Amino acid sequence: MTPMTLAECPQCRAARMPHRACPSCGYYNGRNVATGSNAD
Ligand SMILES: [Zn+2]
Repeated sequence: MTPMTLAECPQCRAARMPHRACPSCGYYNGRNVATGSNAD
């Protein structure tokens, strides 16, 4: 079994994959990239 290193989302505190958008809130690197839409 490979231990997976998870990062904590600074936005919602959910465990997420490093260098991946948070599956819970869609935040990554301080931005919401959930839908890939830049329309804000
Ligand atoms: Zn999050």
